[in-house]
Amino acid sequence: MPEKKTRFIVVTGSIMSGLGKGIVTSSIAKLLQARGYSVVPIKFDGYLNIDCGTMNPFRHGEVFVLDDGTEVDMDFGTYERFLNQSLPGNCSITGGKMFQKVITKERKGEYIGRDVQIIPHLTNEIKEWIRNLAKESKADVILIEVGGTIGDLENAYFIETMRQMRFVDGHMAVIQLTYVPSLSPGEQKTKPTQHATRMLQSAGMQPDIIIAREQEKLSEDAKKKISQYCNVAEENVFDDPLLHTVYELPLVLEKQEFYKQIAKIIDLDHTKEPDLKEWEKRVGRIVKPKERPLKIAIVGKYTAVKDAYISVREALVHSAAEVNAGLEIGWIEASDLEKVANVAEVLAGFDGILVPGGFGERGIEGKIKAIEYARENKVPYIGLCLGLQLMVVEYARHVCGLEGANSTEFDKKTLHPVVDLLPEQHNVVKLGGTMRLGAQECNIAKGTVSAKAYDDGKGSAKASERHRHRYEVNPAYVSALVDRGLVVSATHPVSNVVEIVEWKESFGVATQAHIELKSRLEAPAPLFIEFMKAAKKRIEKGPETVVEK
Ligand code: GLN
Repeated sequence: MPEKKTRFIVVTGSIMSGLGKGIVTSSIAKLLQARGYSVVPIKFDGYLNIDCGTMNPFRHGEVFVLDDGTEVDMDFGTYERFLNQSLPGNCSITGGKMFQKVITKERKGEYIGRDVQIIPHLTNEIKEWIRNLAKESKADVILIEVGGTIGDLENAYFIETMRQMRFVDGHMAVIQLTYVPSLSPGEQKTKPTQHATRMLQSAGMQPDIIIAREQEKLSEDAKKKISQYCNVAEENVFDDPLLHTVYELPLVLEKQEFYKQIAKIIDLDHTKEPDLKEWEKRVGRIVKPKERPLKIAIVGKYTAVKDAYISVREALVHSAAEVNAGLEIGWIEASDLEKVANVAEVLAGFDGILVPGGFGERGIEGKIKAIEYARENKVPYIGLCLGLQLMVVEYARHVCGLEGANSTEFDKKTLHPVVDLLPEQHNVVKLGGTMRLGAQECNIAKGTVSAKAYDDGKGSAKASERHRHRYEVNPAYVSALVDRGLVVSATHPVSNVVEIVEWKESFGVATQAHIELKSRLEAPAPLFIEFMKAAKKRIEKGPETVVEK
């Protein structure tokens, strides 16, 4: 049998950053997946970092972590949330990884006698990487999102690689995402799109499809102009309008018969009908929720940059849709809470409180105050990674009476180091890729909220969630905490690291893992669902509702 031919779809961005290439790539992948094709999205980032692990969320948004522990760009979160599929680390191609390969080979003498060049040596490395991935994954379609904008020096060699691959491998569609500004209502300007397309053409690439972001629906006139000046058939120019939620985009593209066009270009069956029923149902719930919104406070440190907590926000969106409620997020800067005399002034109106992951000292005491408020007032609480460590610190200080208890991350000399470095972290000097990373399973105790959340329907509960941290609950303090009523509901099967803790008196649960990273629209994170149910119940029955197990 001849080998299956992999199709490629390349998505480039133009004019400006932030147009939502990741969402477009994911939406296209969704339309193919909904027709039974296996898809694998990959992303190229031109920077010279090996991965995203050492990047600041303030500048680059959230660092996403895959099952295998690779720290990647936040676009991977979008791919997985849309596709309900876990991706391997080799889907992330960075300039750093590619240059490192070439330089390592050069030092070994593998190019002996030659000068080593971007073309062909670097471009060959990239082609080999993508072809290997195609072979390993056996995907019907590989979608390649090119980071940055067309014309950037950082991605020029990658565009050149795509040009070569298109020529040799064939079956490749090139999609250019552009922006069409309106000078005044009804006056759409296509010139930037024309220039941007020239740039792509001068790199030897003709787009097959142009997708235009804009403030108002793309006029027929604008469509015609784009078609005429950019050599793209009119039926291949698509609208990417302002939407209520990003999850609407697959449906919006579907209505424009996007699939039919792309299928023709890459030679797939263009008559196939999609199964988008579940997707439509959930999108409908986000757009028009049945009940009054649940108000959730995210008490964090990067609240001015919403992208820093994008997976947390999306996990809330997914779980709100699951319980068929609306959602209103309050972004609370933790260090501001430190300045107010009574945190109730800020937190009183919320139905649930969330403390996300984080590093460094700023805002720590504010987060602890928020957790104390949630526990004392029986407001449902969910903590993620640092949110677990601080739940333990708060409990140690205020319930166990361990004055000054802290994490050694914030107070090296604390009398009660209830959170301390993981044993394997003591000798770590290099910062890149050295945390406890990736998905690991845990043992869940019966009769807990966690057991209910992760129930596999056969009487046992299993969880495999993704980690990214250096500290853990200090094993020396576990019995003291448990004696005073803290529930340790999950631990690592071998190392015994505390994975999940719960309160007994009201709904409070926190995980050492970043459970938000595996939340998908069609499969929300189980503990987020429980959290939302508790928030809903609190509205219905009042604040005294004690958690049901
Ligand atoms: N700073 C903490 C640690 O390293 C928590 C990390 C996190 O929240 N991802 O363990």
